[in-house]
Amino acid sequence: MGSYAYFRQHIVPLEDAKVSIVTHALNYGTGCFEGIRGNWNPEHEQIYLFRMREHFDRLMRSARTLQIEIRESVEELCEVTVELVRRSGFQEDVYVRPIAYKSGEVIGVRLHDVEDDLNIFVAPFGAYLDADKGIRCCTSSWRRVPDTSIPGRAKVTGIYVNSALAKTEAWMHGCDEAIMLTQEGDVAEGSGENIFVVADGQLVTPSPSAGILVGITRNTVMELARTELGIETSERQIPRSELYGADECFLTGTAAHVAPIIEIDNRQIGNGAPGLITRKLMDLYEQVIRGNSARSREWCTPVVPAPVGA
Ligand code: PMP
Repeated sequence: MGSYAYFRQHIVPLEDAKVSIVTHALNYGTGCFEGIRGNWNPEHEQIYLFRMREHFDRLMRSARTLQIEIRESVEELCEVTVELVRRSGFQEDVYVRPIAYKSGEVIGVRLHDVEDDLNIFVAPFGAYLDADKGIRCCTSSWRRVPDTSIPGRAKVTGIYVNSALAKTEAWMHGCDEAIMLTQEGDVAEGSGENIFVVADGQLVTPSPSAGILVGITRNTVMELARTELGIETSERQIPRSELYGADECFLTGTAAHVAPIIEIDNRQIGNGAPGLITRKLMDLYEQVIRGNSARSREWCTPVVPAPVGA
């Protein structure tokens, strides 16, 4: 057992996948990436890759924005990923990180006439946020980069400086996560998550026009809420002040799963504990990502070929 990487179109041991310090993407942030979860199911002795195809579809769209040419098809990328995770032999939750980037060893800020490459690595990865008790958030003084500057819907490596500034500011204020606002001051998203509010038994989340990354977990939660709980989601502008009066609030993301927010800017959300609808969604999400529900058949890829779902 050991970690492997897909590097220069071959699967190699992780320690052999190295790039030069001259690499364009390292110097200018000219890459785009994905985060895909592999979720370990101890009863099935199986890792399920969650919505892998949708992640690679998004990577393709991000790459088009950055004029990065990806040689592999989505199908091939899925096959390589399954093989990487299988060979690595982990029996725990993992994180798969594909990155398409300007690999040319040249100086000069541009997208044209620079070589491209695509790497994938896999690493063990447990909980990202400690979601059991609920998390404490603060709105950031750093505004979300607008679509007119760097498109947030493309998962561009360089744009994550914006997220890192916000996350560390939140941490320095004793919070678990930052909530970033748009340039106009409406709610956008967390540093690495989308955000939902529960109001009058319905879900509300910022629309893609707020410059957010349109999350795959966000979509999963909207689907589960509608089909399993009969709860609709409205995608609309959310003023910051609406957060403080929310009945419930939570974050969604591949790394964070569904994470209940119990405090924002020192104001208690709801009764200060994860809310009922949030807990139902956390549970449904947990079941589906581990291959334990009917919907898993559609969304989960087993790493060792086997029937999926209940
Ligand atoms: N917003 C940002 C800024 C993110 O980095 C992420 C994590 N990829 C998300 C939202 C959630 O997206 P997803 O559910 O596809 O992981």
